Amino acid sequence: MAADLPVVIVGGGLAGALAALRLTQRRPDIPLLLLESGDRFGGDHTWSFFDSDVPAQAADLVAALHPVRWPRHKVRFASRTRELPVAYNSVHSAALDALVRKSLPAASYRLRASVAQLHADGVTLAGGERLAARAVIDARGPQGAMPGLDLAWQKFVGIEFQASAAEPDCATIMDADLPQLDGYRFVYVLPMAPDRVLVEDTYYSDSADLAVDTLAERVRSLAAERGLSGVELRQETGVLPILIGGDPQRFWPAGDPVARLGLAGGFFHATTGYSFGLAVELAEEISALPGDFAGPALARWSRERFIRHWRDMGYFRLLNRMLFRAAAPDQRHRVFAHFYRLPAQRIARFYAGKLTWTDRVRILSGKPPVPVGAAIRALLGP
Ligand SMILES: Cc1cc2nc3c(=O)[nH]c(=O)nc-3n(C[C@H](O)[C@H](O)[C@H](O)COP(=O)(O)OP(=O)(O)OC[C@H]3O[C@@H](n4cnc5c(N)ncnc54)[C@H](O)[C@@H]3O)c2cc1C
Repeated sequence: MAADLPVVIVGGGLAGALAALRLTQRRPDIPLLLLESGDRFGGDHTWSFFDSDVPAQAADLVAALHPVRWPRHKVRFASRTRELPVAYNSVHSAALDALVRKSLPAASYRLRASVAQLHADGVTLAGGERLAARAVIDARGPQGAMPGLDLAWQKFVGIEFQASAAEPDCATIMDADLPQLDGYRFVYVLPMAPDRVLVEDTYYSDSADLAVDTLAERVRSLAAERGLSGVELRQETGVLPILIGGDPQRFWPAGDPVARLGLAGGFFHATTGYSFGLAVELAEEISALPGDFAGPALARWSRERFIRHWRDMGYFRLLNRMLFRAAAPDQRHRVFAHFYRLPAQRIARFYAGKLTWTDRVRILSGKPPVPVGAAIRALLGP
């Protein structure tokens, strides 16, 4: 392997860009090339996360993304409303784009560079250009069907309105006191600035179909009911995978010579489909690896990391089976309302994917929110 060959990261979205930022900072001895097919890094997303989702040692990286921060957040169900003194944050992808352009040397990235093929020792661009690499990392994000994985979906349409929220220091992350349609439905309300509010109509659904126009109309109604109508500034849509089960070996066969990060590598929270915290964590981990980032070793490391993540998510897959298989779609809200009886720190560990054994027992204790027979069948299922 020639010492001047770069590590090539394919995909300058959340995971690829964060890894590139940390590698540039911590391993300036390793040449790097970040290839992004779009005309900016990160697309047009709002990524939200709890403080406890990200490792403390990455505080500087997160701060450099200028998150909007709410010191408290709220959930609401027909049966209970609760305010939790746990901070919630959102980062807009424009901040990631600006940070990458500012921090990476110009020779370390290319925009409008669409990769057609990834190989062990390089990539072929859509125009036919071939670039040699010491290692290739696939960070292309969701690529349609994820082979071998049994999935449900968290899907949403969000509109950012020019409007002012009554409580600008509080994020409403779930207001499920709504007609329950297409699974578990809730509205998400984030006061992004004194004069901007993001309202999202969200569904935990069996289907990935997203009727964008219909949902956008519902968002407008939900905003109007909350006195938040105004000029529409932007719209975003998402269809995020929720992991029910599957075969990790089929999803990512052993011996695959290409490393992976982000959703391309299955690095998402099984119950929320979110990946901000994991992307930060993996950027930390990859930049702390010793050695010269030779392709085979890097591919092995990332696959072993995925297998560990798969194991860590076992309990969450089990909960997902209860949610999607034991609860009728219009009764799924009961599972979340029941969950929100728990202490705030336990809830925070749930979202961070870092549950203790006591947490696991406590989450499943109490009067079951779903029929017991169906719950047992779901728990024993594949
Ligand atoms: C609208 C939306 C909102 C979300 N909100 C949250 C949230 O609040 N919190 C959270 O944790 N998660 C959220 N998620 C889920 C998840 O965290 C994001 O999808 C996240 O961006 C995934 O990171 P990634 O790096 O794997 O993929 P992406 O960020 O999608 O990045 C993949 C990149 O690869 C590029 N690419 C693809 N193919 C090629 C190619 N052939 N050649 C070169 N480049 C290529 C793409 O253009 C893209 O920039 C959201 C997702 C969506 C869609």
